[in-house]
Amino acid sequence: MAFDYDSENIFAKILRGEIPNDTVLETEHSLAFRDIRPQAPVHVLVIPKGAYISYDHFAQEASEAEIVDYVRAIGEVCRMEGVEGDGFRMISNAGEHGVQEVPHLHVHILGGRPLGRMLQQA
Ligand code: AMP
Repeated sequence: MAFDYDSENIFAKILRGEIPNDTVLETEHSLAFRDIRPQAPVHVLVIPKGAYISYDHFAQEASEAEIVDYVRAIGEVCRMEGVEGDGFRMISNAGEHGVQEVPHLHVHILGGRPLGRMLQQA
């Protein structure tokens, strides 16, 4: 499948510095910032700096350096936010069925309270 990245999405604008963000961590290839509508005491989004729409796009086209940096950045955010002990949830929504709002790959890291079961019945 061909991936058609929309460079006007809100996270692309954050990466270009056109709109502000509450940065938690910046690495060579990744940026982590607080979700503007937090759903738990810890709610951080981790994005690659590259133009990737979704996890499957990233997995297919990102370089090994980008992939390693992204995975390590997610782990580092968990450590910095203090959620490794009590636990956390990672979510990456993709496409229509995943109800992805912003078409730039992001992993939500949620924690700081019990999060309930993984999915509600639709
Ligand atoms: P998703 O449904 O996985 O695409 O979620 C997109 C997330 O981005 C939502 O949780 C929004 O609250 C969050 N979001 C949207 N705009 C911003 C922004 N400017 N800064 C931080 N988070 C944002």
